[in-house]
Amino acid sequence: MEKRTKILATVGPSSDSIEILEGLIRAGVNVFRLNFSHGTHEYHSKTFNNIKEAEKKVGTRVGVLQDLCGPKIRVGKLKYDFELKQDDLIEFHIEQLEGEKIAANRYKLSINQPRILSLLKDGELIYLYDGNIQTKVVEMNDKFITAKVHNFGKLSSNKGVNFPNTKINIDVITQKDKDDLLWGVQNKVDFIAISFVQRKEDILYAKKLLKEHGGEAHVFAKIEKFDAVENIDEILEVSDGLMVARGDLGIEVPYYKVPSIQKSIIRKANAASKPVITATQMLLSMAEKETATRAEISDVANAVLDGTDAVMLSEESAIGKNPINVVETMSNTIKEAEKIYHYNKFSDFSFFDETDVIASSTGRLAERLDVKAIISITGSGKSAKKMARYRIKNDIYAICHDERVARSLTIAWGIEPTLVIEKSTLNGMLGSTFTNALKMGWIDHEHTYILTAGYPAGVEGSTNFIRIVKKNEIDYLAGLEA
Ligand code: ATP
Ligand code: MG
Ligand code: MG
Repeated sequence: MEKRTKILATVGPSSDSIEILEGLIRAGVNVFRLNFSHGTHEYHSKTFNNIKEAEKKVGTRVGVLQDLCGPKIRVGKLKYDFELKQDDLIEFHIEQLEGEKIAANRYKLSINQPRILSLLKDGELIYLYDGNIQTKVVEMNDKFITAKVHNFGKLSSNKGVNFPNTKINIDVITQKDKDDLLWGVQNKVDFIAISFVQRKEDILYAKKLLKEHGGEAHVFAKIEKFDAVENIDEILEVSDGLMVARGDLGIEVPYYKVPSIQKSIIRKANAASKPVITATQMLLSMAEKETATRAEISDVANAVLDGTDAVMLSEESAIGKNPINVVETMSNTIKEAEKIYHYNKFSDFSFFDETDVIASSTGRLAERLDVKAIISITGSGKSAKKMARYRIKNDIYAICHDERVARSLTIAWGIEPTLVIEKSTLNGMLGSTFTNALKMGWIDHEHTYILTAGYPAGVEGSTNFIRIVKKNEIDYLAGLEA
C-alpha cells in the first residue's frame, strides 16, 4: 500500500473538470467533498458526474462526501474583493445589498441572517473569513451596525461570519440543508457531514431524515462548536464518523486549545473504530503558492501521527492555483510520516465486543507471520474498521457484498476496498475472492495472507473465521466453487 492515511479534497472551480479530478485521484485523493455552502444543485450534479467519470477512467474507488452548510452566517455578495486595512470601517446592513466601498476607509455589506445584527452589543467582536479578519462593533443604528477592522485582510463574497461573544440559537439543520440532503440521497453520496452539531439529537435528526428518504449515507459530525466538544462522547456514539473542523472551532474555543482538542477527538474516534477527518488550513498557503510552509507540512505529518483517518483540503483544492500539486505534497508528507508511524497499537484499546478480540488476534497473527495482507470479507465494513483500529502495518483488503459498503471504507485509515462479491457459500466466496485478486493483481504467489470472514455471510458482527493462506494454497483456493 502506498499510503494509509486517506485524503479528502474539496471540489470547486479549480478542480471540477474530469481531467483535474482524474489527476487528483492519481495523486492520492480517496474522497471528494462537495461543499453545499457554495454552488447550486446543477453545479454539484455536474461535478458529481465528472467525479464518477474520472473514477471510471482511473479505475480506483473514490467516495463522495456531501457537506451540508448548516446555519452558517455568511457575508453576502460583494461587487469586488475588499482589501481591508486596520481601522477601516465596515457597515453591516440589515437590508440585503451588494457589498461595496463607499468612502476612503468605509465599506458596506450585508449578511445572510440579518436578524442576528440586532442581537449585537457595542464592543462585541465580529470575525470574518474563518476568523482571519477581526472587527469590533463601534456604532449601531436601526439600519446598520458599524465595526472597526483590527486584523486586516482580503474579504470576498460568501465568506463565513462569526460572533464569538454573542449567544445565538438556531436550528442545526435548516430548510436548505433538508433540500440539499434530498439531493444527496438521490445521488447516493457516501457520506453526509453535518455542520455546527451541538448534541447527539442533531445527528439522530439527520439520520431520521435520511432514513425517511431511503438514504444510506454515513453521517459525520463536524466538531466546530464549543458544545460539541463538551458533548463529544454522546455525539461520537451516534455518528458514523467525525470531522475536526478547525476553521470555526478555532473561533468557538480559544485558538490555543485546537491542537489538544484535535488529539483528544482523534483518540476517541480511534478507540470507537470510527473514521475521523482533520480539516481546514492544512496546506492553505498552497492555494496561492507552489510550496507549503514548514509549519503546514508539520501540521499534516502531525495529524497523521495523531492517528487521523483522513486529512482534508478546502481552498487548496477548491479555488487554489494548482490542486494536483497540493495533493502530491500532501501524499508525500503522509508517506514520510507513515515511515515513523506507531503501528500495531494492540495494547492501546479495550475490547467492546467479540469482534474486537478477533480483530486484535488476527492483527497479531498478521504481524508475527509477517503476512503481506489481511483479506477481510466484511458485510457492514465494521470488522475491517475494527482491524484498522490497531493501525497494523500489513495491508487490509476489504471484500464487500455491496458497492455502498465498499465506498464507505474509502475514508477509513489503511483499508483498501478492493472487491465486491456476491454472498455465497464459504467456498464460493473464497473462490471468487482469490480468482479476482489474482486477476486484478493485488495478491501474488510469493507471500502469505490471512483471510477473515463471517460465515454464514450477512450476519453483522459474525466474524468467526480466520484462515492462514500460504503461497502454495492460493491456486487451490482460487479454484474453489460454491
Ligand atoms: P466551511 O465552513 O463549510 O468549510 P468555507 O466557506 O470555509 O465553508 P471551504 O469548503 O472550506 O468553504 O472552501 C474554502 C473556499 O473555497 C470557500 O470559502 C469558497 O470561496 C471556495 N469554494 C469551495 N467550494 C466552492 C464551490 N463549489 N464553488 C465556489 N467556491 C467554492
Ligand atoms: Mg465550517
Ligand atoms: Mg472552510
